[in-house]
Amino acid sequence: MRPSARVLQFLERQAVRQKSTAFIGLGRMGSEMAFNLFSKKFAESPDEHFIVCDALPTSATVFRRNFLAQFPGAQIDVVHTPEEAVYASQTVVTMLPSSPQVKSVYSEANGVITALQSLGGAESAHSLFIDSTTLDVEVARSVAVDVIKTGAQMVDAPVSGGVTGAKAGTLSFLVGGSEGAFNISQPILTYMGKRIIHCGPSGAGLGAKICNNLVLGVQQIVVAEAMLLGQKLGLDPAILAGVINSSTGGCWASSVNNPVPRSLLDKSPPCERNYEGGFATALMLKDMLLATDIAASTDSPLPMGVSARDFYAETLKHQPDLAQKDFSSVYKHLEQIGRKD
Ligand code: NAD
Repeated sequence: MRPSARVLQFLERQAVRQKSTAFIGLGRMGSEMAFNLFSKKFAESPDEHFIVCDALPTSATVFRRNFLAQFPGAQIDVVHTPEEAVYASQTVVTMLPSSPQVKSVYSEANGVITALQSLGGAESAHSLFIDSTTLDVEVARSVAVDVIKTGAQMVDAPVSGGVTGAKAGTLSFLVGGSEGAFNISQPILTYMGKRIIHCGPSGAGLGAKICNNLVLGVQQIVVAEAMLLGQKLGLDPAILAGVINSSTGGCWASSVNNPVPRSLLDKSPPCERNYEGGFATALMLKDMLLATDIAASTDSPLPMGVSARDFYAETLKHQPDLAQKDFSSVYKHLEQIGRKD
């Protein structure tokens, strides 16, 4: 018996979706991650199809243009809604600012879940969603439940390593999801990162990421405090940074992301470029809020975390121009307070 037109249409679409990967959210991190993912996949399989989508259509068209300039034979298309991305691709990676955007991309009209529901069980079952956004754990879990209900697989896979790691393809992915979902997402994450860690069930990757950024957010402020105090005591910043970094106070915030220009003579942290690039202060405030909110709802005391959150908020209230600068620019706010005193 010949297959019906419906079955043929299904098989045709399944074959197209199977050889297609979509990336939604081409910002500072997403554009670098998508570039690594697509270029490595293209090198392995030149007939792979790539799809890009961003709320700012020019981000997607500029990405496509840059990608084609390096890989002229590649098949890469821009779509305008997450729904279209799901119709086109079986594998979808999302890298968005935070919870509201993830809710919008997955759960609202023209979103991922509507598309999965209309594709139906057989096609949904072959779909994989990797969300690398840093967002609220409960929002992520609830979105994952809705995606998994359609038969698809989903992991939360936030990253550590920043824009430099995204560009170099050396990110660490902290993955939350079932064993099965982790196993199928791991080979895809390997195109963009070096360390892929299964942290536990849905939401566990985000839990780990939020705890790590809580430590980082506090440390960056205290390093700024110590570097300012040291200079007021007459110390040369390079000598002071050298002492801290070879002593018990040393940490990433002091040895790689030191906030004082000319303190790390062999490195070029964002402070050497007027705090351009790096991890935006607004995003660090968002992560401190994620930590303090989840801590409040789990009765986990965060005396340092709450103070740090309030200091990032105060910094942006008084110096809103620092919002998109690297978060080590909190040093600028400390300096300003120090001058007033
Ligand atoms: P970004 O603001 O540069 O990029 C976000 C992108 O998402 C933008 O291009 C934006 O237009 C797009 N977007 C927003 N809403 C959308 C929607 N509804 N549909 C489609 N696209 C939409 O942010 P980023 O620096 O790339 O960070 C992304 C995530 O990674 C954040 O959760 C951040 O906390 C996390 N992160 C960032 C860094 C870093 O160093 N920048 C490091 C680790 C983790």
